[in-house]
Parts: sequence; C-alpha cells; structure tokens
Amino acid sequence: MRREFSAGGVVVRQLRGRPVMAAIRPAGKPEGTWALPKGLIGPGERAELTALREVAEETGVDATPVEKLGDIRYVYTWAGERVFKVVSFFLFRYRSGRLGDIPAEHAHEVAEVRWLPLEEAPELLAYNGEREMAAKALARLGSRA
Ligand code: ATP
Repeated sequence: MRREFSAGGVVVRQLRGRPVMAAIRPAGKPEGTWALPKGLIGPGERAELTALREVAEETGVDATPVEKLGDIRYVYTWAGERVFKVVSFFLFRYRSGRLGDIPAEHAHEVAEVRWLPLEEAPELLAYNGEREMAAKALARLGSRA
C-alpha cells in the first residue's frame, strides 16, 4: 500500500476567556466539515517544521510550538489506490497574524477558516483522530492552569 506522511497543528489561543483552535474547511468539502491544518512532510523536513509551515499556509497565522500531541492513522482511496497515511500533530500557541490571511498561492486549498471553541472540538471536527488530538490539547492546557 502507498504510504503518506503529513504533519499538522492544533493552534490554540484564548478568546473572551475561552480556549479556541484554528480550524479549516478544506476546499471541496461540504459546509460544516471542520479539520485541522496539516500537509505533507517534505523530504528531510522535521515534522514540527512542516506543521508550522502548513498552519501558516492554510490559516494565515504564525504559531509557537508547545509539544507533540501524537500521531493519527487512516486509510483512504485515491484514484482507485489505497493510501495508508500517518499524520503527526503538535500543540501550538497562537503568536501573530490574522486568521484567513492566507498566501494567495494556497488560497485554493481552503474554503473557510475559523476560530472554534476547543471544548466543542469533539462535536465540530469531522475526523475521529483529529478530535482526539483536540481533546489532548484541551487536557494539556487544563493541567497547566
Ligand atoms: P494533506 O493535507 O496531508 O496534504 P490531502 O489534503 O491531500 O492531505 P487528506 O486530508 O489526507 O489529503 O484527505 C484524503 C482523504 O482522506 C479525504 O477523502 C479526506 O476526507 C480523508 N481524511 C482526511 N483526514 C482524515 C482523517 N483524520 N481520518 C479519516 N479520513 C481522513
């Protein structure tokens, strides 16, 4: 089976006293399909660096690494071929920039970007593995208060 490796981030900030995360609706997905920003790891690239780059390209914000959250695995079919995919996720703290200020060359990849309440991630995120990553991020933030 073909294998693919990506990396992404749960970017968190406090808005009105509540933690929110940067979520995207990937281009071509129906309204309400919320996902975390991520992308393919380049040859020789460190996963954390990939995740920071993808966060900037897909959401428009810059972030600071906090810690690794874990890896998720899934299989999908593309053009009749099954692909086994591993995505490493990192907890990031929002640093600067405006959500949605996406570089023009990446604008076609993303239909919508939004700060969503981290507590509501289990209901809002479309994929199980990503929900788990958001839950870990919430636990991590809670344990440090
Ligand atoms: P990347 O963002 O890593 O460059 P991509 O946009 O090319 O990747 P994926 O986001 O992996 O590709 O999407 C490929 C297929 O897998 C799509 O049909 C998508 O709906 C599905 N998919 C995406 N994330 C998950 C997940 N966490 N669990 C299960 N299926 C997923």
